[in-house]
Parts: sequence; structure tokens; C-alpha cells
Amino acid sequence: MEKRVLIVGGVAGGATCATRLRRLDETARIIIFERGPFVAFANCGLPYYVGNVIQDESKLLISTPEQFLMRFNIEVRTGNEVLAIDRARREIEVRELATGRFYREAYDALVLAPGAEPVRPALPGIDLPGIFTLRTIPDSHRIREWIESRSAQRAVVAGGGLIGIEMTENLVLRGLKVTVVDKLPQVLPVLDTEMAEPVCRHLEANGVALYLGDGVAGFAEDQGRLAVLTESGARLAADLIVLSLGVRPDSALARTAGLEIGELGGIRVDDSMRTSDPSIWAVGDAVEVRDTVTGHWRLVPLAGPANRQGRVAADSICGRPAVFRGSQGTTVCGLFGMTVAATGASEKSLREAGISGYEAVYLHPESHASYYPGAKRLHMKLVFSVRDGRVWGAQAVGEEGAERRIDVIAMAIQKNATVFDLEDCQLCYAPQFGSAKDPVNLAGMAAANVLRGDVHMAPWRDLAGSGALILDVRERYEYAAGHIDGAVNLPLDELRQRLDELPRDREIWVNCAIGERSYYALRILQQHGFTVRNLSGGYLTWWGWQQ
Ligand code: FAD
Repeated sequence: MEKRVLIVGGVAGGATCATRLRRLDETARIIIFERGPFVAFANCGLPYYVGNVIQDESKLLISTPEQFLMRFNIEVRTGNEVLAIDRARREIEVRELATGRFYREAYDALVLAPGAEPVRPALPGIDLPGIFTLRTIPDSHRIREWIESRSAQRAVVAGGGLIGIEMTENLVLRGLKVTVVDKLPQVLPVLDTEMAEPVCRHLEANGVALYLGDGVAGFAEDQGRLAVLTESGARLAADLIVLSLGVRPDSALARTAGLEIGELGGIRVDDSMRTSDPSIWAVGDAVEVRDTVTGHWRLVPLAGPANRQGRVAADSICGRPAVFRGSQGTTVCGLFGMTVAATGASEKSLREAGISGYEAVYLHPESHASYYPGAKRLHMKLVFSVRDGRVWGAQAVGEEGAERRIDVIAMAIQKNATVFDLEDCQLCYAPQFGSAKDPVNLAGMAAANVLRGDVHMAPWRDLAGSGALILDVRERYEYAAGHIDGAVNLPLDELRQRLDELPRDREIWVNCAIGERSYYALRILQQHGFTVRNLSGGYLTWWGWQQ
């Protein structure tokens, strides 16, 4: 008898699962139910469609129901919403939206891939026309039409997460003046606050107004003009408002069917993506996953994990051993020529998870050999375990090469690699592409120096009130252009001759511009018996901490 596999949701997780299933089992009857009008569309491309970077809507359609049928013999029912699961009878109840017809379908295996819905808090004025969220192609049509029909000039983006920042860039590309409002004191919460600082400055340099540290309290309309009202009482005027306040797992169907739901509201699955019902699997934004680093349950609404989980579920349904290893949240976001990338744990996420025993190093290397034209500065942070040197997380911000470094470190995290492995890894090098000591190697070296005891770190957060002598080893003109409050200047090249000017009864914290000269200085001072620590990442990192 043919195996009947029904799939709820036909985008990243659902579509991947369906096609993998077909490659493993030519005889199964596979049906995808999708309540929207499209299957397998590129929701990640939607901000760029709003911004006219992608001009042809058809480019967003990765596949069509006809193609699914022809190539994979998979039936796709768009405009069909699954309303309920009858687990006892192994049936689902479906409504055909165009006709209102209800019907049932039986399954041997059921896959839930319903995704996540944008958060729309029940605030005053939330239902005013002109307030949008972005999840589907029709959502993007509505935003485009609104901009065009109203000749919109100003937008407020509520929420400075990944989608919010992508929308910001694209609205600016459409000629709108954009304000981003966020309750946090930073944008892109995937980054630690100090790492988000260059991003904030870059947004402002591109004309974006930032309204941070203030939550959205409601919305108002006055003579056709919208406004976001903030908790502090500010009124941010706009012709349109885009809500990017995060997403919530679409787990209602699973919850009603009595499947186990986690504390974060996602569907609980095992490592083969099977739910608490052995005939039902769940994948994608709707599920909770184990964090690769912390081991805690987590929601990771990203396309890569959704695709991988779809594949794992298909393997599992076909009786193949398959394991989803957990999510490390590897993320990348582009904004006005800048790339922000991160993988694994941030200091913030470790603190929130109650995990200690980590250290972080900062570095600001060039994206490729500095003597070759066009090198761009990268800002990087590496977080690692002090117990065994395991790499726990990394963040990189810059105009070139950020995502490449984070991809390498993402793989290192997958393989439980240590900072010593990063020192050793052999990466592409020619002057236009990198450096003989790639930023990934440098990050490993900086961290390994700490673990070997060659460098003692001075935590930036303890700078104020540390009681240490802050020694700035940059050149005089650099110091004159700006320095840490209270820092004493003694350029590196004069250090050996002027050691007797430094105190032996007081800790010395050394800094330079990016942390390289201060490391050299620290090694000199340490070997001359001084008690010395390094302010990792130097003056550039101080800037981030200051804000
Ligand atoms: P979805 O892709 O959301 O698909 C779920 C589908 O299920 C929906 O089409 C929905 O209509 C359907 N459905 C739900 N309930 C039912 C029901 N009861 N009956 C029938 N159908 C149902 N991720 C990245 O990694 N990188 C990016 O750059 C990125 N950019 C993004 C930009 C935007 C604007 C958005 C919205 C998301 C972005 N994401 C990005 C996230 C990524 O798209 C999601 O993580 C991924 O699509 C999740 O896949 P999924 O299959 O779980 O859910």
C-alpha cells in the first residue's frame, strides 16, 4: 500500500521535506497543503522586492505547483488551510479557501511546517491602515502599493532586528526617510551591544534616524498622517509603519492537537524532528531546537535550519537515521554596503543562559592584505570557553569579508573546534582575498594567547573604576586625536627606553588603536616584571563600549 505523507506549509521546511521524500521514496503519495497563494517562494527576498532591488515578482517564485507535480510527482494544494489534526484517526481537516469546502485527508506521516507569524502586539491603534508586517508575497504587494499610491515620504520601522534592518535599507532605497525605533539600546540584537555600535553609526551615516532604548506604546493617525507613539511619550510621524517586532512560532495547530509545546511556544521535537506523536514530524520556524552551544531550547527562525530540518524529517520518515544537530543561529545581514554576520553564542546570550567560564577577544583586522588596494576594516569578536578553548561564538561587522570569516567559524563551532584550531586553520590567501594570517587565524591567536597565559585580559566593562594605569601606546598624534579618559601616552617604540616612568606597584592596562601594538607592549612589560593587562581591540573597541 502506498504511504501517504501530508505536509502542512509549502515554503522552506515543507517544500524541502517534500522533495527529499520523493527522492527517497518514489511510491509515496505526497501532498503539500499551503494556505497562501504560492508554494516555495523566497520570503527572504521580500524586503528586496519592496525595495525594487528585485523587480520581477516571478523571481521570488522558486517553484510552482505545476513544477512540483511534473518534476517530483508531488501534489500541491495552495489556498488550502489545514484546520485540525485528528490524531486518533490519523486525518487532517482542511478548508479550501476559494470555495469554503471542508474535507479530510488521511495520513501515515504528517509533517508540520507552518512557520512563524510576525508579532503584532495588541497596542492602541495597531489596526490602523498603513501599519504592515512582512511575511508573504501579498504582504509585500500591500507595502509597495501603499508607498506608491500615497507617495510615501517617511516610514517608521518598529524593531531593529534582521528583517527590520533589511526593510530599512530597502525603504531608503525607495527614497523614504526612515526612523528605526527599538526598545533595546541597539539594533540587531544578535550582536553584543558594543558590536552593534558601528552598525548604528553606519545606519545614521546613510540617513537613517535611530530611536533606541524606547519601546512602541501605540499608534495614532491625524489627518491621514500616521505616528508611532513611544513609551517615553515621543511621537514619530510616518506615512507608513513596518512592524518588525520578531516572530512567534505558528504552533496553534499542534497545540490544539495536543502535541507537546515547549516553554518558548514552539513545537517540541526530538533530534529526528519527530513530535510527541510518533506519526507527526515538525520542522522550521514552528519548532524549538537545542542551541548548539548552550544546549538550551531556543527558537531560531532562519531558512538554513528550516531546510536542514525538512531533510532530516524526510529521512526519518523513510526510516533513515538522521539527526538535526541543533541550531547555532548563523546569521548574516546586509545594510548599505556593510555586512553583519554572527554565529553561535554572544556574551549576551551566554549571560542570559546563565553560563559563565567564557572570555572574549576583539580584533579589527583588514579584510585582505593592507598593501593591496581596497582593503576594508573588519570588526570581530570571538567568544570562547576558558576551560577548554572551545569556540562558542563570533560576530563580524565590515564592508568586506565578514560573512566569510563567520562561515569558517560556524563550521568550527559545528565541529567542536577550539581557538587553537582557529590558529592552525589554513585558509585561502592571495593579497586581494585575505592575509597570510587570516582574521580567523588572528582571532584564534588572540584567544590562544589568553589561554596560554601570554596575555591577561582587561575587561572593558571594568574599565571605569579599575584603579589601573591606562597606558596608551599609540603615536602622539593618534592620542591627541582622541583617547580613553585618563590614559597616559607612551608610544610603543619608546617603551623599552622609558620603562622607569611606569609604576611597579599598580596594574597597567595597555591600549592602542586595535589591540596589536598593545599586545606587543604587554609582552615587553610582562617580561620586565610589570603587572599588565590588555584592553582587547583597543581604542576602536572602546568606542563601541562607550555608546
Ligand atoms: P515558512 O517559510 O514561513 O512557511 C510556512 C508556510 O506554512 C507559510 O507559507 C504558511 O502560509 C503555511 N501555513 C501555516 N499554517 C498553515 C496551515 N494551517 N495550513 C496550510 N498552510 C499553512 N532567514 C534567513 O535565514 N535569512 C534571511 O535572509 C531571511 N530573510 C527573511 C526575510 C523575511 C521578510 C522573512 C519573512 C523571513 C526571512 N527569513 C530569513 C526567515 C526564513 O524565511 C524562515 O526561517 C523560513 O522561511 C522558515 O521556513 P518554514 O518552512 O518554517 O516556514
